[in-house]
Amino acid sequence: MFDRIRIGRFLGVVLVGAWVASALAESQAPSANEAVKRLAAGNARFRAGSPTHPNGDAARRAETAKGQEPFAAVVSCSDSRVPVELVFDQGIGDVFVVRIAGNVCGVSGVATVEYAAEHLHIPLLVVMGHTSCGAVTAVVEGAKLDGRLSDLAGLIKPAVETARKQNPALKGKELVAAATLANVQNTIETLFEYSPLITGLVKEGKVKIVGALYDIESGKVLWLPGPGGEPTEPAPEPAAPAKPAAPAKPAEQAKEPASTKEAEPAAPAQEADPADGPDPADKTEDKPAPTHNDTAPPKVDKPEEAPK
Ligand SMILES: [Zn+2]
Repeated sequence: MFDRIRIGRFLGVVLVGAWVASALAESQAPSANEAVKRLAAGNARFRAGSPTHPNGDAARRAETAKGQEPFAAVVSCSDSRVPVELVFDQGIGDVFVVRIAGNVCGVSGVATVEYAAEHLHIPLLVVMGHTSCGAVTAVVEGAKLDGRLSDLAGLIKPAVETARKQNPALKGKELVAAATLANVQNTIETLFEYSPLITGLVKEGKVKIVGALYDIESGKVLWLPGPGGEPTEPAPEPAAPAKPAAPAKPAEQAKEPASTKEAEPAAPAQEADPADGPDPADKTEDKPAPTHNDTAPPKVDKPEEAPK
């Protein structure tokens, strides 16, 4: 299989240095909550226009040349307006980033997250969508997509269908906003569904998965509620509300009081429960058929078969 070969190559490379990374990574790893706070603090600096650009000098390069020890992994969109390290004001070796259009995970995405969790021992995984996502918008609008883009769209489609089901009246930008939130949740569920490894680490409390939404206009990262709807961390304090109406549109679709949407985390309907144990069977019927490529869900090429 195309992807199995790719994963084999990928792992062949990464495993060479895995023992080095493992040894380095197991020391002084922050807790998941500490990791969230660190990201939130960086985002606050970024939004306030006072980033410190930490860990970006020659000394840090020399230090990390010996091995990486990121304190968090982030699955985000490839959109050029979502530069993850800048958004969180982090530097070299701080954040392990997986960027795929629409912040979805196919085989390679799941495997990459597995590597971060299993070999780099990151305590926190953030799955972050963003406002005005072109990939989500294209699927909502039913745009005709050429090449392998249709496969990528297939990974986003379940979220759009979920958003439509939850609120059939939504259209246009409102539907895009709701689908964006559902897409974050869908990616989290995909990780659970296709990766027993990740599911196990989450159940053991070694990794925490948190959803987030980045507002490309205000620069703010909204932290989506965790299990039971409770915030997963103290909400980062916004420097100053930018524009009342525009930013947190997806949050509007999430039963959140309109007046607090700027300051509070969004509250999408979250069914997955990363801490207490995901339900891998939840959304099976929503997954598109496997198509044996990089962006298709790995139902055939199960990730757990490849890494060993
Ligand atoms: Zn996007």
